[in-house]
Amino acid sequence: MVFQDLGLDPRLLRSVQHLGFAKPTDIQQEAIPAVLVGRDLIVSSKTGSGKTLAYLLPMMQRLLKSKPLSKQDARALILAPTRELAKQVYAQLRLFIANTPVTGALIVGGENFNDQEKLLKRQPHIIVATPGRFLDHLEHKSVYIQGLELLILDEADRMLDLGFMPQLNAINKAADHRLRQTLMFSATLDHAEVDELTLSLLKNPFRVALGAGHEQHSDIAQHFMFADHLTHKEALLKHTLQHAAIKQLIIFTATRDDAERLATLCTDLGFSAMGLSARLNQGQRNSVMQQFAAGKYQVLVTTDLASRGLDLLQVSHVLNFDLPKHAEEYVHRIGRTGRAGAKGTALSFVGPKDWAALQKIEAFLRRPVTFSSISGLEARFKGEIAPAVSSPAQVTAATTTRKPSHTKPKKTPQGATKPAKRFFEGGDDGTAPVRRKKNDVN
Ligand code: ADP
Ligand code: MG
Repeated sequence: MVFQDLGLDPRLLRSVQHLGFAKPTDIQQEAIPAVLVGRDLIVSSKTGSGKTLAYLLPMMQRLLKSKPLSKQDARALILAPTRELAKQVYAQLRLFIANTPVTGALIVGGENFNDQEKLLKRQPHIIVATPGRFLDHLEHKSVYIQGLELLILDEADRMLDLGFMPQLNAINKAADHRLRQTLMFSATLDHAEVDELTLSLLKNPFRVALGAGHEQHSDIAQHFMFADHLTHKEALLKHTLQHAAIKQLIIFTATRDDAERLATLCTDLGFSAMGLSARLNQGQRNSVMQQFAAGKYQVLVTTDLASRGLDLLQVSHVLNFDLPKHAEEYVHRIGRTGRAGAKGTALSFVGPKDWAALQKIEAFLRRPVTFSSISGLEARFKGEIAPAVSSPAQVTAATTTRKPSHTKPKKTPQGATKPAKRFFEGGDDGTAPVRRKKNDVN
C-alpha cells in the first residue's frame, strides 16, 4: 500500500512526500482507514511504529473535508501526558497544517497563561495540550469545546497513571455529544486500568492492535546485568560509556536527584551530558530537549518524564540505571531507541532494590529475562525472591534463564486467551498494578 491509496487530500500527501516517507507503516495502514470511517478507536502498536501520523493524517482529512460543527469551538483536541511530547506532536502537526486553512495551537503547563489565552481567542481548529493546563483554560472559559469533533489521547494509559482521570472526565463532559469521535493511542493499552478510561470516554470502540505491549521489539537488543550497589552500577555505567558504540544515550533513573547526579558523573567522565527532570523550569526543559535533539549532548539523564513518545532518532542506546516501578514503563523507556526501523540497544542494571520491579517486568513481558555480565565487574547479587513470597531465599546464577513467578497469560473477559499477534476487539491481560501518582509533570 502507498499513501495515495488512503484517499487523503493532495495537500496532506504533499506533506508526507516532503517528509520522505515511501509508504504508510503497518499501523498507519490499519488505523487511518478505521479513523476515516468515523468510529471510536483504541490503537496499540509497538514504540516507534508511526502512531502519530496514524491519527494526524485522518484527523486532518476529516477537518479538511467536513463542515465544522461549530464556527467558534475547537474542532480537534490532542492530549499528551507531558509537555515535551505535546510539543513534539505539535511540531509534526505544523507540517500538515501548512498550506491549509486549518489552524492549531499548543497549550501546555509551565508557559504563560495569558499568552495562551490570547492564542485561544483566535479560535484555533486544533489544540495540542497537556490535560491539566487545558482544563484550566476550559474552566477559565478561554476555550470552548462543545463543537469538538475529535478527541485524541496519545499515550492514553500514561495520562491515567499520572492521575489525570478527573481532568479527562471534565474535558469529556465539556465535549459530550453524539458526533464526537474519540481515539486512544499507546504501545501498552492491553492492561486493565485502561478499561476505566475506555468505558467513560469511548463509544463502542473498535480495537486496532498490531502486536501486544509485551511482545519483544525486534529492533531493540535487550540486556540485563546484576549490580550490587550504587557504586557498582556507576562502574558498569562507566564501562558502558567507554565501550559501547553510542551515538546518543538516554539514562533513566528513579529520582530527579539521581538524574542530576548522574549527569554530573557522565560529564566528569568526559561525556557531554544533560539532566532532564520536572524540577527544571519550562525554559530549561525546552532548552535541554532542543540541545539533545540537535545532538549537542550525547547523554540525557532523566526520569519517566521522558519515557513516553519522544522520537529522537539518534538515540542508539537506552540504559535503565534503575528499573521503573511500573512495568509498562520499561517497554516505553527502551522504545526511545529502535525507532522507525532503526536498531537499538537497551541495557538494564538490576540491584537488590530493583528486584521487585524486575519481577513485575517479567510478568508484564510474560517471559524471563536473561542476564549477562562484564568480565571483572561481575556482581555478587544474583537476584532474590521478593520479601512477600514465603519460600526460602533463592539464589539464581547469572546467565541462567529463570522462570518468572506469574507469567501465565490471563484470560480475556470472554474466556479466550488473547491472540499473540494481530487482533481486533481483543480483551486485556490486567497484569499491571492499579496506581495513582501525583502529577508533577504537567
Ligand atoms: P510511535 O508513536 O508509534 O512511537 P512515531 O509516530 O513517533 O511512533 O513515529 C516514529 C518515527 O517513525 C518518527 O520518526 C516518524 O517520523 C517515523 N515515521 C512515521 N511514519 C512513517 C512512515 N510511513 N515511513 C517512515 N517513517 C515514518
Ligand atoms: Mg507516539
